[in-house]
Amino acid sequence: MAQLAKNHVHPSTESLAAQLRGKIISPADAAYEETRKVFNGMIQKYPAMFIMCLDVADVIASVNFARENNLLLAVRGGGHNGGGLGLCDDGLVIDLSGIKFVRVDTSDNTVRVGAGNLWGEVDHATHAFGLVVPSGIISTTGVGGLTLGGGVGYLSRKYGLTIDNLLEADMVLADGSFVTVSAHQNKDLFWAIRGGGGNFGVVTSFKYQAHHLKNVFAGPTLWPIEKTEEIMEWYHDFITNSPDDLNGFIATMVIPGAPFPDHLHNKQFCGIVWCFTGDIDKAEEIFKPILAMNPIFDHLGEMPYPAVQTLFDGLFPPGLQWYWRADFFNELGPELRKQHLKFGSDIPTSLSQMHLYPISGAASRVGKEETAWAFRDSKYAGVIVGVDPDPENTEKITDWCKEYWSALHPYSSGGAYSNFMMDEGEERVQASYKHNYKRLSRIKKQYDPNNLFRVNQNIKPE
Ligand SMILES: Cc1cc2nc3c(=O)[nH]c(=O)nc-3n(C[C@H](O)[C@H](O)[C@H](O)COP(=O)(O)OP(=O)(O)OC[C@H]3O[C@@H](n4cnc5c(N)ncnc54)[C@H](O)[C@@H]3O)c2cc1C
Repeated sequence: MAQLAKNHVHPSTESLAAQLRGKIISPADAAYEETRKVFNGMIQKYPAMFIMCLDVADVIASVNFARENNLLLAVRGGGHNGGGLGLCDDGLVIDLSGIKFVRVDTSDNTVRVGAGNLWGEVDHATHAFGLVVPSGIISTTGVGGLTLGGGVGYLSRKYGLTIDNLLEADMVLADGSFVTVSAHQNKDLFWAIRGGGGNFGVVTSFKYQAHHLKNVFAGPTLWPIEKTEEIMEWYHDFITNSPDDLNGFIATMVIPGAPFPDHLHNKQFCGIVWCFTGDIDKAEEIFKPILAMNPIFDHLGEMPYPAVQTLFDGLFPPGLQWYWRADFFNELGPELRKQHLKFGSDIPTSLSQMHLYPISGAASRVGKEETAWAFRDSKYAGVIVGVDPDPENTEKITDWCKEYWSALHPYSSGGAYSNFMMDEGEERVQASYKHNYKRLSRIKKQYDPNNLFRVNQNIKPE
């Protein structure tokens, strides 16, 4: 049996079990080892128990049990968080993966989603109706963590962040009470959960505004890494002046292998992954200036929206080692571009990458105090990930990631998108919520004065 939790004396779970439809999984159970795995293989935590919740009643019982017994409490949605914030050592984990449902309402194009869903499941359900809810750029992330942190992806320029499309959420608060939050009820909590993460309670379901979108014109274009400075300079002007229908994140990356052609394998590139949501007949005209930049490779074409969302699923299976660092940026100036060329030319493993996601178009037209997500006036959410299957390479990917970040940080806007951070301490959390931190911390004090929900990018009760 794997190393167990530190085995403090834990309260009997008999009374809790009697209140649950879901199972309790503890270190003595055969399922424990599999259950404690999260997406990032670098995270090894040993909770005292998992409560595999099946409904809201299970969540209420679990929150009450953790509070009454003074247990450290973590909440896991899709388990994708880079810092492993869906788990804790020696405490209770509320696992939401059993609360899965997607209901599409075509009368007003809204979608109600259980907190245990992954985005691929939502895309599958909505695509059948020609609808979409804006999320990220991969289908395996959890709905819960991605939404509560903000949600940056292919549709941010067209329809805003995921939180800009959130209409309502059901929540269990620290005192075990159940509330619905929206623009019309519990407005302070609705403001706070749109970016403030899991600090305010356990969200059990989300209701989103969906949009008509069936097919997109999308795919990657690649340039040799030596062209990074030129392409980044061009990209900055181009994307800023493009219609909202065009999105594309720019990256430094390695092409690891198939399905890309042999001559590209294990070489470094400056790449852009595009997604055009406008009239497909106009795609040729829209992509003309992009192709005029003479990419060495492109793989552009019309595809169903779920296809672009799943393009990278195969490259990044669960269990790889991931080290994350992030910041927002306003500019891609010459000094910064030089650093991208330097570190992009020195990517240590074939899955390690740097991405810059545009925060422009619709995402930038929401006021910076309108939701808890503070960096509406920043131009890019940047992230560097050191990734490799082999734990032996942990130091290599971590060092590269930290050094790359340190070289870029002086040119950043100060804070980072909370969903791209690991567990980096209070100062970084404050920098990332900027002017909104004080208000968040007042709301935290009102609803969670004892900081029961603290395994997250933690906002301290004021
Ligand atoms: C491969 C990969 C690609 C990614 N791409 C994108 C992207 O394109 N865009 C983007 O915005 N982000 C992206 N992310 C980051 C992602 O948004 C975060 O990792 C997010 O935390 C994942 O949510 P989760 O529910 O899977 O995580 P978990 O690890 O389960 O949870 C993360 C945090 O959210 C809290 N939480 C989760 N669900 C709930 C809930 N229902 N109620 C209360 N608290 C909850 C947890 O307590 C924890 O603090 C990506 C991550 C990975 C690994």
